[in-house]
Amino acid sequence: SIPLGYFGGIGGASKRGILVKGANFLDALTGVNTVVFDKTGTLTRGVFHVTDIKAQNNFSPEDVLKYAAKAEANSYHPIARSIMEAYDGNSPYEQAEAYEEIAGCGIKAKYKSQLIIAGNEKLLDLENIPYERCVAEGTIVYIAVNGLFAGCITIADEIKEDSFSAISKLRKLGVKQVVMLTGDDETAAADVSSRLELDAVYSRLLPQDKLARLEKLMANLSIKEKLAFVGDGINDAPVITRADVGIAMGGLGSDAAIEAADIVIMDDQPGKVAVAIDIARHTKKIVL
Ligand code: ADP
Ligand code: MG
Repeated sequence: SIPLGYFGGIGGASKRGILVKGANFLDALTGVNTVVFDKTGTLTRGVFHVTDIKAQNNFSPEDVLKYAAKAEANSYHPIARSIMEAYDGNSPYEQAEAYEEIAGCGIKAKYKSQLIIAGNEKLLDLENIPYERCVAEGTIVYIAVNGLFAGCITIADEIKEDSFSAISKLRKLGVKQVVMLTGDDETAAADVSSRLELDAVYSRLLPQDKLARLEKLMANLSIKEKLAFVGDGINDAPVITRADVGIAMGGLGSDAAIEAADIVIMDDQPGKVAVAIDIARHTKKIVL
């Protein structure tokens, strides 16, 4: 049977907008000394804005945005939403003949026998499309049409206001390591990690790379030390499942992440991770 005190802990957490799916997760939380965050949508707002468009190979910037919007029209990724917002074309798109979202890479879509690629360098490399590397402050989305590089779109995201205090609260609780894993490229990742003064950052990770990195971090812990992973995306579901404590952002988070999670933060505030650990520790004191 579950000691009554645990219900108090779960209830107290829920009043703070933290959904704990079982008493055992409160227990695991008390031992957390490593917290690993996803970047986009977790530490950053995941609200991107297009800040620049560069065109190549006889395409105009308008073309680049139009093709990008065609590819992104069916995606729920924050990057896709920013491109749709910038395009602002009210004309509804005809159904894509083929559509594929490649986690951690981008989109492949086919319209009227035009194959459109919108994604990162990894995706263009995979597709063997020659391109010119774009250097800018933010996340770069490369666009190609029928194998020809059309240009790139720069989009910028912001660190959540709450992320700064979230990290300092974890440090005050004695959490030893705060790490960030991201599918985004080095420049965008390094900027966030240096501003938040994180202990380590790993970028350009595909979902399976995130899992491998998480397992390495877990292998370095003693039995008593637990690791929590906090994420929001479909690509985070496997790591959320694998972590000792899997935490999902419940507001803008994907259904897959929320389902995989042990704990859901309803208002997407990363500071709630420290609140949850604090509640878990108090609960344990009452139960024991
Ligand atoms: P994070 O791990 O930081 O939450 P994701 O794994 O969701 O980021 O995405 C990693 C990278 O994959 C993005 O930075 C982007 O380069 C590319 N990407 C993913 N989805 C899309 C998309 N819909 N359109 C363009 N690029 C995308
Ligand atoms: Mg994310």
